[in-house]
Amino acid sequence: MFESLQDRLGSILNGLTGRGALSEKDVSAALREVRRALLEADVALEVVRGFTDKVREQAVGAEVLKSIKPGQMVVKIVHDELVEMLGAEGVPIDLNAPAPVVVMMVGLQGSGKTTTSGKIAARLSLRDKKKTLMASLDTRRPAAQEQLRQLGEQTGIDTLPIVAGQSPTEIAARAVQAAKLGGHDVVILDTAGRTHIDEPLMVEMADIKAKANPHEILLVADALTGQDAVNLARNFDERVGITGLVLTRMDGDGRGGAALSMRAVTGKPIKLIGTGEKMDALEEFHPRRIADRILGMGDIVSLVEKAAETIDAEKAQVMAERMKAGKFDLNDLAEQLKQMQKMGGMSGFMGLMPGMGKMKDQIAAAGLDDTVFRQQLAIISSMTRKERANPDILKHSRKKRIAAGSGTSSADINKLLKMHRQMADMMKAMGGKGKKAGMLGKMM
Ligand code: GDP
Repeated sequence: MFESLQDRLGSILNGLTGRGALSEKDVSAALREVRRALLEADVALEVVRGFTDKVREQAVGAEVLKSIKPGQMVVKIVHDELVEMLGAEGVPIDLNAPAPVVVMMVGLQGSGKTTTSGKIAARLSLRDKKKTLMASLDTRRPAAQEQLRQLGEQTGIDTLPIVAGQSPTEIAARAVQAAKLGGHDVVILDTAGRTHIDEPLMVEMADIKAKANPHEILLVADALTGQDAVNLARNFDERVGITGLVLTRMDGDGRGGAALSMRAVTGKPIKLIGTGEKMDALEEFHPRRIADRILGMGDIVSLVEKAAETIDAEKAQVMAERMKAGKFDLNDLAEQLKQMQKMGGMSGFMGLMPGMGKMKDQIAAAGLDDTVFRQQLAIISSMTRKERANPDILKHSRKKRIAAGSGTSSADINKLLKMHRQMADMMKAMGGKGKKAGMLGKMM
């Protein structure tokens, strides 16, 4: 049903063989297709707009490497930006609070709230050995409380005894009290839903929140939610204040664009995804997988990987040539730092080399860990293009500005500059050996 983005971009961009930088025109043509692909994947229109604007910013002027087609370059940028926007990998449910930790589940009717409550409870109790209590606050549907009770029975998880006639806030208070008395670590509150967002629902959620003081408020939403996703996420976040998202029915054949919509609108992490009706069909969220799915199936992954490999190889070659010529400015340093980060930072890098495992601790002790990389990259990105190419112009006032821009101090900047000088000197010395070949090359 879905034509993959690669096919579409292919037809537009394969014809382009232009070298150098991606032009506004190339990018606009590609982005029209990206836009269609995102809309077909159910990403909400306003989110699509914001996203394509961001990509345009990144892509126009980006260098197209020799062995790669402009279309592939755009796909790579789109893919990376999508992963970035989908956010961090595997943010677990936060139970860092005095017991009983209250987790409140909110969402529309039929989104999978009750099922997900059971899944989370099962995982917490079986895997994490947390004593868990579940309570249904759904007083509108008489069968809802009974549904949760049965789920508890099936999975061996405690549920709050049903008392007829209580209001949702009364049940919430009773659940917290029962958990205290019962020595439970976690209480999961399964709230009532509606078929659509309305005022009484929002008021009810806010009341429950005030009463039960939840540490986590998870919005459960169907991955097939289309244009409504933005409205849904925004309303729940503004009125109730969610701490994370759970997307259900990721086992369906939708492309999961709701993930991007809801994440973009709330900025809250997608903590888990539901992948089936069974109690163990709950998975960690991996932005990369969802990005591939949103963009089109399978082939995008290998395409992007291939592009990334080629890009890395070409960058390394360009760098080697610059080094040989005795050129190594702060742009090059930033590139090196990024490569190191990709390999899992200094410790990851060392871990890959035989016999270096032990050095990892020493590196950490010397403060040469990944925070240092991040800080150094922040410093470099606060510099102007001219400053990066020519660090000698960095005097006091420029340093002060860069320190403010990167949240560092002049001392941090001096440290970075010293390191860069040492590296550049080393490269020059190494480059000297290759000079002959360079000269010969010129003469021929
Ligand atoms: P609630 O009204 O929000 O509490 O929704 P329910 O938990 O009762 O779920 C509604 C239906 O969706 C049930 O038939 C569930 O089995 C089903 N469901 C929930 N989560 C998933 C999921 O991740 N995948 C699939 N395929 N079905 C799900």
